[in-house]
Amino acid sequence: MSRLYILVIPRNSVWFLLAALGIVVLLSMYHHYPFGLYALSLVHQEVIYDIMLDPGHGGIDSGAVGAGDIYEKHYVLDIVLQMAELLEAEGLRVGLTRDTDRDVSHLVSEGTRHRRDLLGRFKLMNQAHLGMSVHANAAKDAGESGAIVFYMKDRYAGQIYAQLVLEELEKVQVLNEAAPIPRSTLLLLKARPPVVLVEIGFMSNPTDLAKLGDPQFRTAVARALCQGILNYWEWASGEQSETSP
Ligand SMILES: [Zn+2]
Repeated sequence: MSRLYILVIPRNSVWFLLAALGIVVLLSMYHHYPFGLYALSLVHQEVIYDIMLDPGHGGIDSGAVGAGDIYEKHYVLDIVLQMAELLEAEGLRVGLTRDTDRDVSHLVSEGTRHRRDLLGRFKLMNQAHLGMSVHANAAKDAGESGAIVFYMKDRYAGQIYAQLVLEELEKVQVLNEAAPIPRSTLLLLKARPPVVLVEIGFMSNPTDLAKLGDPQFRTAVARALCQGILNYWEWASGEQSETSP
């Protein structure tokens, strides 16, 4: 036999209890979302792009530096600008966190430049249905080479997206990790839409650096990443039509 419990709350303490409940909910979310970040994601942001492309770094922030003072920020911008053209030609509404050699810190007023830059990119990611951040890596060990694809831990759509991107990337670049890597510490991955962060290769590895310096390789990478995005786009629209009545 089931029992029925009735909670009697005096009318004058209802608001107090609601406030206490709210604090408990916020505190439980704090584990995954620091307050400032959570507040940013709550601010109503209209989705105006199909995809937001984020070339890492820019401006004062050069990103990884290869032998001969070669900067990550230039290569990833070149790749992303090519991607934007390709995806627009496919009919997607493409947003860019930057399209010149600058950072994104001007979009947020509080915090260090690095923090403002990251939050600015995060904010822009939330204006799209999908996001991709493009980087090149560096490691102490010059032997480290190849591409890595990161996605937000425990997010199914993000994992599928990362897998589809990796499968295309693998056709044009060796992989550092055979499968996409789940991460919960990369801020951009916590944005509302599925976001993957792609490390194209290691600027600290002579072979990868030579590849990145080759415009044909950068074009091949841009095409591969776009194909991965389009494959996911198709998969996601199939999912939607299956679940809609
Ligand atoms: Zn980077």
